[in-house]
Amino acid sequence: MTELLKGKAGLVTAAGSGIGRASAIALAKSGAKVMVSDVSEEGGKETVKMIRDNGGEAQFFKCDVSDEDQVKALVDETVSAFGKLDIAHNNAGINAGQVKIGEMESEDWDKTIKINLYGVFYCVKHQINAMLETGGGSIVNSASGSGLEGSAKMTPYTASKHGVVGLTKSVALEYGKQGIRINAIAPGATITPAIEKWAQNQPEQYNGVLESLPAGEMSTPEDQGNVVAFLCSDLAKQINGVTVPVDGGYTAGK
Ligand code: NAD
Repeated sequence: MTELLKGKAGLVTAAGSGIGRASAIALAKSGAKVMVSDVSEEGGKETVKMIRDNGGEAQFFKCDVSDEDQVKALVDETVSAFGKLDIAHNNAGINAGQVKIGEMESEDWDKTIKINLYGVFYCVKHQINAMLETGGGSIVNSASGSGLEGSAKMTPYTASKHGVVGLTKSVALEYGKQGIRINAIAPGATITPAIEKWAQNQPEQYNGVLESLPAGEMSTPEDQGNVVAFLCSDLAKQINGVTVPVDGGYTAGK
């Protein structure tokens, strides 16, 4: 445990797995009380247990970020449970299939944009209104390397993540004077359950990606969570509107 975020109250979306789980754990280890949220009750409750087992403070609230009413309820519940909202990690995002745009089903496009971009919009809107009540806060969005460069056969994902980067920059210009900072992380390939499955099923493709990474290894969810905790903290008080690549140097070569 550190005291980096001592006394802070936060929430993390899609915290039932992967990067969101690691971020919720990192915030709690840094002393914050965390509202763990996910559309999956099982995953979210497991994260709460992991935090509590380590002496941290967390609660679970089920929320599908593509539904604005559920997002508002998540923010309201966090304020009601912890008395305020200081920090938030808007992490939910999906990649609905890999096809070229000419073969894409419109419903896959809609679903991706609805979760990845509308979801972040709903979260930021309601979080900012809660943070204004107590003089400010810090928000971190999960973008992606695909928010910084194109990705073939992942057009809706790429478009949504570029949208998250643009939203993050614009909102930073709107609320800085009211004590609110907003940044994003752009994870490179990160070893989450989905990537582990892919490594098992397509080892050649996986090894090819490993080869292309300057660090020679993928990042871990914990690598991402640690950067989120830093960005949420006062150590990062001069960082606003930025998307930080957390990819072992991959985007440096782009
Ligand atoms: P993951 O697949 O490990 O977990 C995703 C979680 O999101 C699950 O617990 C799931 O229940 C939850 N979820 C799905 N739809 C939801 C919704 N509508 N509302 C709330 N929760 C929902 O995910 P991950 O790989 O850790 O990715 C997390 C974020 O990081 C995503 O935004 C993703 O785009 C981004 N990202 C991941 C990588 C990577 O390599 N893993 C790389 C770049 C960006």
